[in-house]
Amino acid sequence: MEQQHQIEYGNSIIRFSLSYSRRKTLGINVYPDSSVNVVAPENATLQKILHKVEKRGRWIQKQIRKFTEIHKPTKSLEYVSGETFYYLGRQYRLKILIDKPEIKLVGKYFRLSIDKKENKQKAKRLLDGWYKKHAEDKLHERFEKYRYIIEREKIKFNSLIIMRMEKRWGSCTSRGNVVLNTNLVKVPVDCIDYVIIHEICHLKYLNHSAKFYNTLRKYLPDWERKKKRLEQF
Ligand SMILES: [Zn+2]
Repeated sequence: MEQQHQIEYGNSIIRFSLSYSRRKTLGINVYPDSSVNVVAPENATLQKILHKVEKRGRWIQKQIRKFTEIHKPTKSLEYVSGETFYYLGRQYRLKILIDKPEIKLVGKYFRLSIDKKENKQKAKRLLDGWYKKHAEDKLHERFEKYRYIIEREKIKFNSLIIMRMEKRWGSCTSRGNVVLNTNLVKVPVDCIDYVIIHEICHLKYLNHSAKFYNTLRKYLPDWERKKKRLEQF
């Protein structure tokens, strides 16, 4: 039987499930979906357990940040002519024109027409919309390519969710969902594949254990090179 508990830690709350076992010491596991599981010795009092969890609060928060996500650096964009925007790892220059609102990839340019040149909000909205549309197509297409891993590894899979995230390229949930960042369409296809395979492997192993890396390596032997490349975006 698992019980749900929480403690206040700094400005945040750490929620965790608690179960008991015959072990002698308290164990804490942090999973990629940010869930925390505490396994306590059978004779431990709740007060003592809460105290121990609090003492490891810093470590738990660090694991949550490190585990759940493939970290994405935040970049601030200006949405001005001449600025570089990416699609599938290739660079395009933004060219803003005054015309009826429209956006198109033409040669080496993102040609963006808006009614007023200084309308950064509108430019952002149009570009975000363009990326969202292309993310839906491209990320589903790449994901289908690796669906066989789910079958071969007998993984419990629910659905693929594509959404905008500030700080993560991808993550997954304990319910079997893989979550990909819309902005992944900005990076090269082999980096997209790395994020997809990494998250699929997490559905099988909810941690960064040796087993996790063995599975990742099995389907993507040079994942480290792809990870490095991704870090440049
Ligand atoms: Zn991971």
